[in-house]
Amino acid sequence: MLSLTKEHIAEIEAHGERDFPHECGGMLIGHFDQEKGKTVVELLPMENSSEESTKHNRVLILPRDVMRAERYAREKKLDVVGYYHSHPNDRAYPSQFDLDHALPVWSYIIVSVLQGKAADVRSWEMENDRSKFNEEEITQEEN
Ligand SMILES: [Zn+2]
Repeated sequence: MLSLTKEHIAEIEAHGERDFPHECGGMLIGHFDQEKGKTVVELLPMENSSEESTKHNRVLILPRDVMRAERYAREKKLDVVGYYHSHPNDRAYPSQFDLDHALPVWSYIIVSVLQGKAADVRSWEMENDRSKFNEEEITQEEN
């Protein structure tokens, strides 16, 4: 289960709409909790590092982005708990590319952006054997 505020969801939707028709992405900074799952405390938007020509269908998370995010989180005594990205004119379901590049334990939020408008937000967690993603419940907290 993943907890985040309405404000976080609005921020993810706005980032997806702003970068449309390109994909956007960013890190989810927060903490892991035995009982409550993951809680997002803040978002860390990332530059899309893919080549211009492939921007519309993939976002690469570079190791240096992960390192930067982990350093940032550590300074605030937090963890990187996941990654969000947009699917321009596509559903909020993970692609094979997403599965091939996923890390275990992290939450993957996908925002579907149709014709420039955010339409759907879902969160996914990879199965331990890397075979597939399972949809994860999103709990919206008041700000
Ligand atoms: Zn994707």
